[in-house]
Amino acid sequence: MVSGLLRTGRGSDLASLTTTATRQGDHYVIHGHKIWTSYSDVADWCLLLARTDKDAPRHRGISAFIISMHQPGIEQRPLRMINGVTTEFGQVLFDGATVPASQMIGAPGEGWALAMTVVGHEREPSTLGYSARYGKLVRQLAGRVHGDAPEELAWAAVQTEMLRLHVRRRLSEQLDGVSHGPEGSLDKLLMTWVEQSVGHAALAVGGADDPDLLSAYLYSRAQSVMGGTAQIQKNIIAGRILGLTE
Ligand SMILES: Cc1cc2nc3c(=O)[nH]c(=O)nc-3n(C[C@H](O)[C@H](O)[C@H](O)COP(=O)(O)OP(=O)(O)OC[C@H]3O[C@@H](n4cnc5c(N)ncnc54)[C@H](O)[C@@H]3O)c2cc1C
Repeated sequence: MVSGLLRTGRGSDLASLTTTATRQGDHYVIHGHKIWTSYSDVADWCLLLARTDKDAPRHRGISAFIISMHQPGIEQRPLRMINGVTTEFGQVLFDGATVPASQMIGAPGEGWALAMTVVGHEREPSTLGYSARYGKLVRQLAGRVHGDAPEELAWAAVQTEMLRLHVRRRLSEQLDGVSHGPEGSLDKLLMTWVEQSVGHAALAVGGADDPDLLSAYLYSRAQSVMGGTAQIQKNIIAGRILGLTE
């Protein structure tokens, strides 16, 4: 299994990432760390972004590698989430891990472009199957309600249907060869709002006593952070779609 993209050593400000990959013969040697790495506990490989040229402009000094997780110099530390789960995430520390130069993806300095392509896809709901998951949970919640449904559930049902239709439109556009680029940020914001509405509905129907529904609510809070925070998506929409500048 390949873990998520490792934006090592930085969060929102990816261009200033601090993890380094230093060329030594036909290998690169990695030093740095990354917290919140999805599935690092089960990954055999991960996609690593690291700085290969500290003198280049920030965006141009980053390269991408596919690196084995099974080697000395890599430590995976589990993290405990608020819902009690200790798998699924970890902090990954690199202390002299190596990767063959042949496992660089693209050319030196092309890591930024690759990362932007990856997050562009990551932010589109159409490719992630989230919409179906939200719809399934809303139907399950509706099945548990006897009498009047709470307002939160009605709102979640409306939003879920809206996202389903939006995803269908996006898929049609993709079939027509349309590439979305920064519009993925609109999708990510939409997806976040819907997941958090569904999370509120789960809490309204199950209360804090139902562990599965409480977990659905708690997990929904992470959606506005993972894959780039809601504030960063708004910055992208303002700057790259609406053309607003400071
Ligand atoms: C469930 C989950 C899974 C994740 N999986 C992965 C993974 O697989 N791989 C990976 O590399 N990372 C992963 N992450 C990390 C995620 O990408 C980062 O948490 C995220 O990009 C935010 O970075 P940060 O946590 O360092 O927060 P920061 O960047 O420190 O941001 C803190 C706060 O400041 C705000 N902020 C920061 N800069 C600006 C700005 N310029 N304008 C306005 N507001 C700003 C942010 O919106 C946020 O509210 C995951 C995170 C979560 C929660």
